[in-house]
Amino acid sequence: MRLFDLSGSVALITGGNGGIGLAFGKAMAEAGAQVMVAGRNTKKNAAAVEQIQSLGAEADSIEVDITDPEACRRMVQETVKRFNSLNILVNNAGTAVRKQPQDISLEEFRLVMETNLTSAFVTSQAAYPEMLKVGGGKIINIGSMMSLFGAAFSSPYASSKGGIVQLTKSLACAWAKDNIQCNAVLPGWIDTELTQQARQQVPGLHERVLSRSPTGRWGVPDDHAGTAVFLASQASDFVTGASIPVDGGYSVFI
Ligand code: NDP
Repeated sequence: MRLFDLSGSVALITGGNGGIGLAFGKAMAEAGAQVMVAGRNTKKNAAAVEQIQSLGAEADSIEVDITDPEACRRMVQETVKRFNSLNILVNNAGTAVRKQPQDISLEEFRLVMETNLTSAFVTSQAAYPEMLKVGGGKIINIGSMMSLFGAAFSSPYASSKGGIVQLTKSLACAWAKDNIQCNAVLPGWIDTELTQQARQQVPGLHERVLSRSPTGRWGVPDDHAGTAVFLASQASDFVTGASIPVDGGYSVFI
């Protein structure tokens, strides 16, 4: 299927060393892309690269803390140095602090915003000239159900993920003329390290997710594979500024 062929594409995936980010990397690699995995944990980075390479794709990793804007810019430059170009960026790395709003410190609020939102802006800005050089690109931002809903236990996270949707629309408007499409994916409740933590911290969360989901199950990272390839490929060339839930129907079910 030529429409979904990513041969010749280079994808940089923040937080690509586990969970949803690694699922994006594997799916894009299977469609033919070269993949740069970015994360803080070098062991996880190396294991992710091995998994992606085992699919027959070229992959490498870079150790980066995306709360540092200079490091985000360096990450883009290193990717281009390694693979000669960059045309797919997945702003996926994310974190959460789970407390009632009255108990959250300004430092905690800033950490979540810088990790989940500011880094996506800075990295997209750094990737823009590289995408111009190759005649276009694809930016995929990872939102959340909390891009749509509020959550008493997660106000900084919800603020950052609401912001991701608006950032996505704004980049889409600004860069459509440059053949750069920017879309967001809004995962439902997916079984990853992040939500294993959430289930320990939020009593009753596991059961609530099951009873509220029409599909009756938690998602797994690989549930994102099809959307990942679609949004990275020619198949989505007329789709931009959209936020696509990959949630088993969670956001449409009452
Ligand atoms: P994981 O905890 O498995 O992945 C989080 C990733 O982000 C890790 O690869 C981690 O790398 C990276 N990361 C976190 N902070 C930084 C940082 N400062 N610098 C560089 N990398 C960082 O969770 P998920 O796969 O679940 O999360 C991926 C994305 O999906 C996040 O944006 C999350 O908000 C979003 N999401 C997840 C949902 C779910 O149900 N799981 C639902 C909705 C959205 P390292 O370990 O090396 O630091």
